[in-house]
Amino acid sequence: MTIIHNLGFPRMGEQRELKRSLEAYWAGQLSQQELLDTGKALRARHWDLQSKAGLDTVPVGDFAWYDQILEWSTLLGAVPARFGQADNAPVSLDTLFRMARGRAPSGRPAAACEMTKWFDTNYHYIVPEFTPGQSFRIARECLFEQVDEAQALGHKVKPVIPGPLTWLWLGKGDAYDGLADVGKLALLDALLPVYEQVLARFKAQGVEWVQIDEPVLVLDLPQEWQDAFRRVYQDLNQSGLKLLLATYFDDLHENVTVLKDLPIAGVHVDAVRAPAALQAVQAVLGQDQVLSAGVISGRDIWRTDLEKTLQTLEPLKAALGERLWIAPSCSLLHVPVNVQSETGLDAELKSWLSFAVQKLDELKLLQGLLDGTLDEAGQQAVQAQQAALRARRESRRTHNPAVQAQMAKIDQIKRQRTPFAQRIQAQRNKLNLPAFPTTTIGSFPQTTEIRTARRDWRGGALSDAAYEKAMQAEIEQVIRFQERVGLDVLVHGEAERNDMVEYFGELLGGFAFTQNGWVQSYGSRCVKPPIIFGDVLRLAPMSVAWSSYAQSLTERPVKGMLTGPVTMLQWSFVRDDQPRADTCRQLALALRDEVSDLEQAGIHVIQLDEPAFREGLPLRQGDWQAYLDWAVDCFRLSTSAVSDETQIHTHMCYSEFNDIMQSIADMDADVITIETSRSNMLLLDAFENFEYPNHIGPGVYDIHSPNVPDKDWMVRLMGEAAKRLPADRLWVNPDCGLKTRGWAETEASLLAMVEAATALRAAA
Ligand code: GLN
Ligand code: ZN
Repeated sequence: MTIIHNLGFPRMGEQRELKRSLEAYWAGQLSQQELLDTGKALRARHWDLQSKAGLDTVPVGDFAWYDQILEWSTLLGAVPARFGQADNAPVSLDTLFRMARGRAPSGRPAAACEMTKWFDTNYHYIVPEFTPGQSFRIARECLFEQVDEAQALGHKVKPVIPGPLTWLWLGKGDAYDGLADVGKLALLDALLPVYEQVLARFKAQGVEWVQIDEPVLVLDLPQEWQDAFRRVYQDLNQSGLKLLLATYFDDLHENVTVLKDLPIAGVHVDAVRAPAALQAVQAVLGQDQVLSAGVISGRDIWRTDLEKTLQTLEPLKAALGERLWIAPSCSLLHVPVNVQSETGLDAELKSWLSFAVQKLDELKLLQGLLDGTLDEAGQQAVQAQQAALRARRESRRTHNPAVQAQMAKIDQIKRQRTPFAQRIQAQRNKLNLPAFPTTTIGSFPQTTEIRTARRDWRGGALSDAAYEKAMQAEIEQVIRFQERVGLDVLVHGEAERNDMVEYFGELLGGFAFTQNGWVQSYGSRCVKPPIIFGDVLRLAPMSVAWSSYAQSLTERPVKGMLTGPVTMLQWSFVRDDQPRADTCRQLALALRDEVSDLEQAGIHVIQLDEPAFREGLPLRQGDWQAYLDWAVDCFRLSTSAVSDETQIHTHMCYSEFNDIMQSIADMDADVITIETSRSNMLLLDAFENFEYPNHIGPGVYDIHSPNVPDKDWMVRLMGEAAKRLPADRLWVNPDCGLKTRGWAETEASLLAMVEAATALRAAA
């Protein structure tokens, strides 16, 4: 029988049980024992479910209290000195939490470790920290206990651990210059003996196979890192365990040569993202090595085309026999748990969707198809699935003739505005703003009353009219507030938005929303990405009424607020039946109409937020340009229908710009606001070196902290900015939206910011 296995299961629980327990524990409302019990019950449930789905082994090590990389760092005793960890004591759960969040129910608070995006996903891991010459040891027992736990429940176990090279690559330290620094490889001398001990422990527990995740093999790897694989795996192979080296998220490209004669028992490849990787890896595999084909997407929520997948697998099966394994493409961490718990989606849409539980069912069906062992019920399930996929391909819900007609002539739509130097004059005349104009990024504090009004309206407890009145009252308050504080370009405050993507998605055709489709983003935080299932269509204006109401209250310009096309795409589950670029262009067309309607309604400053613009970059540099080309094109498509005197803004947070400056300039926004305060304006170097010609608002204070910024400090920061860029191109604004802040600190902060702008004008 073909072996089916899984790389990892979502750990939060179908009802986000882990989130709730974690947050209660952190708040002192749950004992540590109760938290441990929640984790144990979730693991047991998830193993049971996987084993019932027919998996040969269950993964152990995919569970994490906060993040799987942090679990591993603490197991290895890699705890930065500031946490006061004793050299030979076990690392406690609270120390793990202090590393993740800076504090925990016990232990001294300390600066939390950095968190960053896991490859090209929306999951964030806790960055390991190293110092040269540091030592490692087995400092936590829980992974071994979990192996025991699963075995006691009668499961055959496959531990899942990060590979040494991936773990080192992902880490940082003052002595090291970025991820690729070869200096980190010197740590292998101390690290490998601990890996050997871990493997020896597994061996003693009766484990046969261990999955070692080395997703760095899909990145551009310097030669030294490639070479290190041989040394590492020659060493770990001494364990006598069978090592399955897991790669995912992309093709291995030239790194496939690393695998040749590598002493491991098998390799897993992501055959969804990189179908060609199957042949490439097969070609270098030795006579007894296993090829694990990741054929069910772990990154999206669509049903698999079983017949098409079977065609891919059959020749491999013929060549490899029992040495072919099948699995999801990567850990199922990145998808929600169960479609069956969705009660708000109609049956047709549900028949197109597959979450973690359904993906395991699909795997079982594929196994049956491949081995010719499907029973009657299995055959019916395959037929039903293939029929649903055919229906999806032909459905009117996925293909809208009006959108198709627009897409057919999209090349004829003009994306070019008049040159910036010319249109900025028209904007100056129209808007008549002072030097160093002040503005905010869009949202104002979201109070309990706002959230309650939104919830009541959705639930039907508040009528449309009453809701509109409540929101208008909020807008009026926000406008008067901004006038009082003395800001130059006002916003309506975004009180009607729970989330910047969901708000627009709900008003567009082609989007669906789940009730329970949560995916872990970091720690206890989950997101519920919308699903773009069909052609995107603007059904009616989406923001015009709120923005023009705000404008009707004031003489000052009100900035219309939209979410940009790339961010809408990035933060959704995107349909897999057409290129992402096409879906993004459909979003851009919808936004283009919205931008025009805002302009018609008398809104002359319009912002399209693109915080996820950089996130969309592919893992390989070689693939960057193709992405940037269509991403920039989509932004321009959205923003180029307006007259010269209408000013287009964009906003990007947590981004680096250095290597994408040309594309930032090509977006050609009149004003870009960015997050810079925490970097002391260093981020502006990229704009200076590029001689960025348009206007820019470098954030002058960090909105993630409740601290009120000092006026002089902001004046100094703007001085730093003015060293790099001509002062007449600079705006003054916070780093990001204010929705998570309270009113008191918001008022004090913005007053200080306006004072800073006044001082700058006086000094100019
Ligand atoms: N306009 C949004 C806000 O102010 C921007 C959010 C973001 O950049 N993430 O909330
Ligand atoms: Zn932001």
